[in-house]
Amino acid sequence: MNYDVAIIGAGPAGLSAAIYAARGNLRTVVFEKGLVGGQIILTTEVENYPGYAEPVLAFDLVDNMKKQAERFGAVFFDEEVKAIGLEGICKILETDEGEYRVKSVIYAAGASPRKLSVPGEEKFTGRGVSYCATCDGALYRNKVVAVVGGGDSAVEEALFLTKFASKVYIIHRRDALRAEKVIQERAMQNNKIEFIWNTVVQEITGEKFVEKLELFNRYTNKISELTVDGVFIYVGILPNSILVESRVELDSQGFVVTDETMQTNIPGVFAAGDVIKKVLRQVITAASDGAVAAFSAEKWIEKNQNGFPELK
Ligand code: NAP
Repeated sequence: MNYDVAIIGAGPAGLSAAIYAARGNLRTVVFEKGLVGGQIILTTEVENYPGYAEPVLAFDLVDNMKKQAERFGAVFFDEEVKAIGLEGICKILETDEGEYRVKSVIYAAGASPRKLSVPGEEKFTGRGVSYCATCDGALYRNKVVAVVGGGDSAVEEALFLTKFASKVYIIHRRDALRAEKVIQERAMQNNKIEFIWNTVVQEITGEKFVEKLELFNRYTNKISELTVDGVFIYVGILPNSILVESRVELDSQGFVVTDETMQTNIPGVFAAGDVIKKVLRQVITAASDGAVAAFSAEKWIEKNQNGFPELK
């Protein structure tokens, strides 16, 4: 089956691209191998997306974006794009269901949580090690948990965990947080949160479930143990760029390089959201990227209209 534009990934970037592309009268298909919403649904509420005076549930926000795209005619397939041919004037996408030929691709595959890569992390994943406070936080009612990291995700999710846990340690490798000032202050004022500065987790131990963290203080060189029931890891993100890595230009960390029109180094192939090289990763910047990518895809298709074979 053929479309004008294929969007890979249905996070805020892909959803926004779908709204703009479909509203621009392009036959628009969105592929999502996981849940619609992407990384944002690993969080509970969004409080900095304009237009919401009160925090909005992340699920509701993305669900409405999807409905909005569908209202303009975008179709959604829960299929994983497993191979992609980007070189020709028509782009070819392969899924288990078949082959799709499209005029333009918007790559919005997002990013995934970075692992800590310490002994015990893999063994205890799902048994005390988690990357999603929204999913697992309620399991830690009246328990003691640690959050590793010092960015927006770590501090926001630590605050969320205080709804359940009796104590939340934030273990950060430096003595200053990277997170936005407003949430830093909220965390500093929360008496369930205790910071452990200049410290890294060296090992996660336990019998069946997580019981202890072995900590290393980078200033004093001292090793200590911390007893916890769970540990939430928020040490950054890795771009989901593997599908395009051999063809599309990436930066040294694997993020897709785009120009200001969201075009990659391949004509007709655009990228948007957390997967691209950018300075600010927020729902609003993802939505903005998606809108620009869809606008650019529309212009690109218009410009090359006579070169496309008939796509039915
Ligand atoms: P991030 O901003 O990259 O922060 C990662 C944190 O983990 C940093 O504090 C870093 O320490 C620490 N870290 C990295 N590797 C580590 C390791 N091996 N051991 C221990 N600590 C390690 O990642 P994020 O918090 O996941 O956020 C990702 C992006 O999404 C950011 O652009 C963020 O602004 C955005 N975001 C925004 C919101 C919001 O606006 N509400 C919410 C969530 C995320 P250093 O500080 O020492 O580098």
